Amino acid sequence: MSIIYVDLIDACHMKCPTCVRGTRLLPNSSRRIPMEQFERIVEKAKHEGYENVGLYNWTEPFLNARIADYIRVVKSLGLHCEVSTTLSFRGRTALIEESLRAGLNKLIVSVSGFTQEIHQINHRGGDLAMVKANLEHISQLMAQEPIKTQILLRFLRFDHNREQEPLVADYAQWLGFAFEPLQGVGTADNPVSNYAHQESFLKRLRDYSPARLQMHDGEVCPLIMDTVAVDANGMVSLCCANPNYPALEIGPYLDLTRDEILVRRYAHPLCPSCTFPRRDATTADRKRLLHALSVRLKAPQETESPEASPEDRSDISTDLGTNGMLDDIKGRLKRWRAFG
Ligand code: SF4
Ligand code: SF4
Repeated sequence: MSIIYVDLIDACHMKCPTCVRGTRLLPNSSRRIPMEQFERIVEKAKHEGYENVGLYNWTEPFLNARIADYIRVVKSLGLHCEVSTTLSFRGRTALIEESLRAGLNKLIVSVSGFTQEIHQINHRGGDLAMVKANLEHISQLMAQEPIKTQILLRFLRFDHNREQEPLVADYAQWLGFAFEPLQGVGTADNPVSNYAHQESFLKRLRDYSPARLQMHDGEVCPLIMDTVAVDANGMVSLCCANPNYPALEIGPYLDLTRDEILVRRYAHPLCPSCTFPRRDATTADRKRLLHALSVRLKAPQETESPEASPEDRSDISTDLGTNGMLDDIKGRLKRWRAFG
């Protein structure tokens, strides 16, 4: 199911060393996405074929006291809605209840230990007693009310916490929740502030080579084809696997056509050096790429995109228009035509 991630807020209270937000490489701000802007984003996303709206990316969504109103907007448009949270806070019981009652489809709760001692190694600043109190409250609430939200307890697995994984799995079962282990990225003793600052991305961009070292014909990045991430300023980021640094911004979601967003991301100079696993392109992927690249180059339309709207064909100037990048895009168009 294709998903758009939208940050409701530009902050997280935790200090996870494995996270650009936790280390404040992405500094917290007081920014909250205005409701009217959010509504327009979700409407556009629905029009573009997104079926799922995740109210998170590099943030803690429950810090926005209007979270239930945002969920209602998503549900009023008939879309699937999910939230990922730490539940590491007190005094927000009513907000949690209101969010579940608003029709939230999925609540993902991330922990990295079963004891406070282990949990706080990665979830720095977290309070596992509060997490458990909130989880147990949700479990009781769902036993009393016809709430359909799927609760997923996610265990972030690192070398230092492997022994506690079965304990968390048993706890999830006891609560009646789903359980999912997920391999954590990085290590707590080597914070991302040592290597993932914006300058390191700028260096990779400066070192851009069209050699496409990690990219192969016939393959696509699933994050580009199946997801899009929009921050609390309404800006599209390259992908949810990388920080939403200004250097990696694609442009304002509401001002760009679906095709333009696809081309800007697909031709992004960071991707050739990225090792994120690709997948084989589907027929639908090929059609979308052919269509978007043709529009970008004003080439004759060989394919009609099923969901394409009239505004998708509009002429939008971009800042990717260097000769080198255009040549690269032309090369890609040629190759996809050969595949098409
Ligand atoms: S809870 Fe999530 S967003 Fe917040 S610091 Fe940790 S990993 Fe980052
Ligand atoms: S940077 Fe990597 S994960 Fe992100 S869109 Fe490019 S290839 Fe995909």
